[in-house]
Amino acid sequence: MTGVLAVQGDFLEHEKMLEALGEECFEIRQAKDLEKPFDRLVFPGGESTVQSRLIDDLKLYDTLKEKIESGVPTLATCAGLILLSETVDGSEGFFKTLPVRTKRNAYGRQTGSFFTTGSFGELEEVPMSFIRAPYIEEAGDGVEILSVTDSNITAVKYKNQLAMAYHPELCEDLRIFKTFLEM
Ligand code: GLN
Repeated sequence: MTGVLAVQGDFLEHEKMLEALGEECFEIRQAKDLEKPFDRLVFPGGESTVQSRLIDDLKLYDTLKEKIESGVPTLATCAGLILLSETVDGSEGFFKTLPVRTKRNAYGRQTGSFFTTGSFGELEEVPMSFIRAPYIEEAGDGVEILSVTDSNITAVKYKNQLAMAYHPELCEDLRIFKTFLEM
């Protein structure tokens, strides 16, 4: 059972991908949703500043951070990667569970959307849709680099956290989600 943060962004697309692989999902919209049992967590793409404000306002922060730190397998896409990062644009990040230094809107605000393919760990020819995406400027100790795009780090794994700058939920390829479900 996967809990998908559903306060803003493209959470539905993540649910569709996971459901296509037979995984059940439910939406985390308020604190009481976090009382349900779940064994995976998804932070979707969207707008990280809006998401962080809602996470605070809805009093989801402490429980979500505890769940990530307790080892619940966590998938984070784009804005989700920004939320997990220890450092964002040189300042302290939000959850700070992922020891990386991330740059927001790293490809420029207007022209920052593009599509490419590349590797994700062992997987090759993975479709990658970048939308006003961040990239990782530096990865800390113990962080496994899974994708590099134009010499920038765009996907990593650290313990139970799988995070990418691009949007696997907007492509037809289910392999990244399968990797997540195998964690
Ligand atoms: N630019 C967005 C942010 O800063 C992330 C974009 C996305 O999730 N597609 O949160």
